[in-house]
Amino acid sequence: MKQLTCLLVAALTLVGCGNMRRGHVETVGPEDIEYNVDRFYDLAILRYRVPDFENLSTQQKALIYYLSEAALWGRDILYDQNGRYNLRVRRTCEALYNQYEGDRESEQFQLFEKYLKRVWFSNGIHHHYAEDKFLPECTEQWFRTACEQSGVALTDELVRVLFDPTVLPKKVCQDAGKDLLQASACNYYEGLTQREAEDWYEQHKDTSDEPRWIGLNSKLVKRDGQVVERVYRTEGDGLYREALQHVVENLEKALQYAETDEQRLVLQKLIAFNRTGDLTTFNEYAIAWVRDLNSRVDFVNGFTEVYGDPLGITGAWESMVNFRDEVATDRTRTLSANAQWFEDNSPTDKKYKKKECRGVTAKVITAAMLGGDCYPATPIGINLPNANWIRKNYGSKSVTIANLTEAYYLASQGDGMNEEFYLSDEERRLAKEYGALMSDVHVDLHECLGHGSGQLMPGVTKDNLREHGSTLEEARADLFSLYYMADPKLVELGIVPDEEAYKTQYYHQLLNGAMTQLVRVELGKNIEESHMRDRALIARWVLAHVDSVRPEAEIIVRDGKHYLRVNDYQGVRRLFGQLLAIVQEVVSTGDYARACQLVEDYAVQVDPALHKELLDRYQPLGIAPYKGFVNPVYQPVFDADGKIKDVLIRYDEGYAEQHLRYSRDYSALPDIND
Ligand code: ZN
Repeated sequence: MKQLTCLLVAALTLVGCGNMRRGHVETVGPEDIEYNVDRFYDLAILRYRVPDFENLSTQQKALIYYLSEAALWGRDILYDQNGRYNLRVRRTCEALYNQYEGDRESEQFQLFEKYLKRVWFSNGIHHHYAEDKFLPECTEQWFRTACEQSGVALTDELVRVLFDPTVLPKKVCQDAGKDLLQASACNYYEGLTQREAEDWYEQHKDTSDEPRWIGLNSKLVKRDGQVVERVYRTEGDGLYREALQHVVENLEKALQYAETDEQRLVLQKLIAFNRTGDLTTFNEYAIAWVRDLNSRVDFVNGFTEVYGDPLGITGAWESMVNFRDEVATDRTRTLSANAQWFEDNSPTDKKYKKKECRGVTAKVITAAMLGGDCYPATPIGINLPNANWIRKNYGSKSVTIANLTEAYYLASQGDGMNEEFYLSDEERRLAKEYGALMSDVHVDLHECLGHGSGQLMPGVTKDNLREHGSTLEEARADLFSLYYMADPKLVELGIVPDEEAYKTQYYHQLLNGAMTQLVRVELGKNIEESHMRDRALIARWVLAHVDSVRPEAEIIVRDGKHYLRVNDYQGVRRLFGQLLAIVQEVVSTGDYARACQLVEDYAVQVDPALHKELLDRYQPLGIAPYKGFVNPVYQPVFDADGKIKDVLIRYDEGYAEQHLRYSRDYSALPDIND
């Protein structure tokens, strides 16, 4: 599953600067890389670096190269899964884009170009997030004429697909009362009613202990009154065989460079699955994948997440090639190894502490290639496989992707947030010097130690706090982290460089929780999302409990604008410690009444005047709410025997350039796939 745990939400809901992690303490992006690549509509395109790629072995580089090729060959599959006409729309628009000889600076052409960029971003004609069809802003007349003049074939049907808002209005419809298949434009079913599809799945259900995920890799089609399953595979008349053949070809090349026997087995099973579409083989592949823990290079490749299917059964094609970030993974190991020390020294009551505390070691990875449903928009965490019985019997892999969050962080530098909302150059200096590192450290402390700390009293479960459970749990983990990031122990362990570094994260957390996160809330609304409530609770509780004579931190007004001033960072730490003790007690005892009080007093309400001021200050900055990436370019260098002797990496490809190249070099499917 896309990691929708606290970590992912924390990072994806970030505005400006904040909860982003970087893989390496010592790395700062090379000056010559442009991190902000493109900007259109509500979308921003960023570039990510692949730190340490140069230091991998030739074998590992070659493996990544062929896995990346396999990742790119799946791109067309996702377009077709997202909608029957998507490939035709993309190809028609690309042909016009390439062949147009009129004025490319004209308003109409620019509007058309923006539309095409969005089609690339969404892998189709529907908004990648909102699911609604977006329309070109250029006129239909201009588009028809431009195609005609450029020798691009166009049908009336295709014009309606592009310009008629009533045709295919929604990719995935979840409206109760509607036939979800008829109302959704995605291409997992053809000619069936929802009832017919559900009946088919019911009839073919695997009720064994180790069930096959029936429907994961197929489309249901009605032919001559019969429901037919069209399986995605290379054999026979398999659907998407033209693309999957190239995927398999590159997986076979990758196999020659596998690092370990475990990884070899993963690749063999995946190749076999792509050929036959056999779901027992898929299970064997998923188990082999979970067991492959020692290979440094790892990957996801295939039909994975089911959010794009209104019935939640068929997997959208995706790929992510990656390798372990050793430095960041070591940091989480160090924290885990010292988990008991942190538990014993926390400011919580002794009876709520764990006697035996084991930390969690988070695996941190570096993404090397994004494909299919991971591109251009991408998750920053992965938690797979999705089959519950495999997770239960064999475990799962959960990773965070450090270089993507690094890219978010670097791109956010200079977006104007800190300039507008930070009090002075001193806070901005701290952010510049320590901001990226400390947001990593915060995530590590929160994930590796915070959630695992403390214990519940006998008879108490997580459910005692009901709707406030996750807010309080997130607050507990955040406070554990905040309390400890200022501890000299972290300098001693080598996690932070000095006793000043934590200050920037304190400043950010208080400012974000008390004010800046409100820019994500609509005017007139309250705070609803549990991570946002957790942050509001912490910041506002602290600000409400400062010393009345010498406040440790305060909100001040300057030139009619509100700012945060921190006067005593160690004093703020003491307040975090006090609140941690309170929240731990509420959670440990399952004290619902007190949880309600904390949440209602500090975490929900919004001051409308302050809210409006913040929005008025934020909107002119023009920060894009959605972000996606361009991939690096890998260039293999071969020796005389055709073996790879090196792989070079480049970071200079533009957004349109990259998509046009992918469409030219990695496109094997017909326009319409029946
Ligand atoms: Zn959390």
